[in-house]
Amino acid sequence: MNMVTKKPDVLVSVFDVKLHYAVGGTFAAMRGKSTVVKAVDGVSFDIRRGESVGLLGESGCGKTSMGRLLLKLEEKTGGTIHFDGEEIGAVRGRGLKKFRSKAQLIFQNPFDAINPRFTIRQTLAEPLENADIPKREREARIITALELVKLPEPVQFLDRYPHHLSGGQLQRVVMARALILQPEFVVADEPVSMLDVSVRAGVLNVFRDVRDRLGLTAIYISHDLALVRYVCERTIVMYLGRIMEDGPTEDIVREPLHPYTKALVAAVPVPNPDQSHEPLPIGRGAPDPRNPPSGCVFRDRCPAAHARCAAEVPHPKPVGTRTVACHLY
Ligand code: SF4
Repeated sequence: MNMVTKKPDVLVSVFDVKLHYAVGGTFAAMRGKSTVVKAVDGVSFDIRRGESVGLLGESGCGKTSMGRLLLKLEEKTGGTIHFDGEEIGAVRGRGLKKFRSKAQLIFQNPFDAINPRFTIRQTLAEPLENADIPKREREARIITALELVKLPEPVQFLDRYPHHLSGGQLQRVVMARALILQPEFVVADEPVSMLDVSVRAGVLNVFRDVRDRLGLTAIYISHDLALVRYVCERTIVMYLGRIMEDGPTEDIVREPLHPYTKALVAAVPVPNPDQSHEPLPIGRGAPDPRNPPSGCVFRDRCPAAHARCAAEVPHPKPVGTRTVACHLY
């Protein structure tokens, strides 16, 4: 009898992951006076196959660091990250090559992501070469990848250089480069933030279309809740290296629970001039990560802070369809 092994539902499993690093330079370290910055601090979540998850938060909240940890572009200082059942911390050599072909990054800035001295053909051939794809197969795969991201008449782009392309076309090339090895998992780091508003929708639609057609599992990193809502079924809200709230995007947008999520939702502009949508009073920007508040890291901006918030770190707990890290629940 032919036994078909069903793959487990979870593709990525993150448990108590930390990225801590010392700042202050060599002399401070020698005098034992360096400060530890906790870019990611005890983060846990699972991502199911085919799921699209938004990592949302202000700049400095740890979302980009988390994305880089998931792709092993950064080495964690604690916790575990399993990809398809395998802990990625110890993956090296051929195993790392295999992992790199399955998990890819779509860069934020297409102008930085591509070597300006490479033609589009060379840009797209590079990952194929690194993955030992035979030379005879490369051209066809390059064309297929460019067609996938809806670059019209792809052949005409092959011998052009990045400066010959518009920002929108270049971001599609960046996407094609990330997809050319047929990954299962992609991390898209603010992929439209450097683009003109007029071309953002087109690139976002290509991203959604490709993700759905290929059944990709995706992390979409953004500070913009409206974009995350457009792209992701689930949202993880981060603040100063920790998860504040995690749940279905529509539930979070309709009824945010964590005070920080409430502030983010309130700050989303609405197209109705009669509807007041003032940001909640959460005061100045995030505190200095070298000196975060005790207890809840959000407490010095939180309108609902109370005595317990300074004394005790709130850990994520289930509340209805989501998890929330707040002493109000
Ligand atoms: Fe505000 Fe306290 Fe909840 Fe933190 S734990 S979000 S300070 S109420």
